[in-house]
Amino acid sequence: GLQGKTALVTGSTSGIGLGIARELARAGADLVLNSFTDSAEDHALADQLAAEFGIRTRYIRADMSKAEEARALVGLAGGCDILVNNAGIQYVAPIDEFPTERWDSIIAINLTSAFHTTAAALPGMRAKGWGRVVNISSAHGLTASPFKSAYVAAKHGIIGLSKTTALEVAGQGITCNAICPGYVLTPIVEKQIPDQMKVHDMSREEVIRKVMLARQPSGDFATVEQVGGTAAFLCSAAADQITGTVISVDGGWTAL
Ligand code: NAD
Repeated sequence: GLQGKTALVTGSTSGIGLGIARELARAGADLVLNSFTDSAEDHALADQLAAEFGIRTRYIRADMSKAEEARALVGLAGGCDILVNNAGIQYVAPIDEFPTERWDSIIAINLTSAFHTTAAALPGMRAKGWGRVVNISSAHGLTASPFKSAYVAAKHGIIGLSKTTALEVAGQGITCNAICPGYVLTPIVEKQIPDQMKVHDMSREEVIRKVMLARQPSGDFATVEQVGGTAAFLCSAAADQITGTVISVDGGWTAL
């Protein structure tokens, strides 16, 4: 179990981040939840998880688009044994029409924030001789789709960061890996459906079946519980020698 460990999960008030937080909590870890909103619901969610799993939880606001806030989050959390870099956003447009500020914020949130949180977390993990860094990449970290240049670039980038981190901490009781989910029906995917309907001139059902799940041979979305369970496995003793690699949770997407 993960009793006595503190897990910091960025972007964990919804979707995959929340699913990961719940599975780490189920394994006994204390939680630090994060998002950039700082709403009453965010704090209530932390209280609810504490009661449900009998663990200690906190919510800490930090905007992962801002380097200083990402860097400071780990210190505000009092360090962490498990760091899950999950916060991420998406934007869909052809490269020649892709707004520069959208490119910049996707690279900042989906890639650069993980550099800063990792840099801040590693000294504490080294001091304890144990640590886990789990980076949430994507099937788009291993393959590409048109109109997702910034996202695909950031998700490929975070796999490189994961490998480099793994090498720098090898032999120190710390591992770093990336999880590559295929399509999971979360708010980030819901929000893409209208854009994809426009770009492909398709109905909602056609976008789900012909665009999204066309790449997923299983024909099903992956679930947040499955991605969370994979993260919990990477934090278990069974995964002590799994480092610098990628686990896909993609219904066969990358086997095609
Ligand atoms: P989501 O929109 O439900 O969750 C994103 C989370 O990130 C939210 O909690 C949000 O508050 C947080 N966030 C966004 N911007 C932030 C910022 N500036 N600072 C701090 N937090 C911020 O989306 P999701 O589907 O759960 O995505 C989570 C991660 O999983 C992302 O990195 C995404 O790229 C990745 N992913 C998702 C899918 C999928 O199909 N849903 C597939 C592969 C990878």
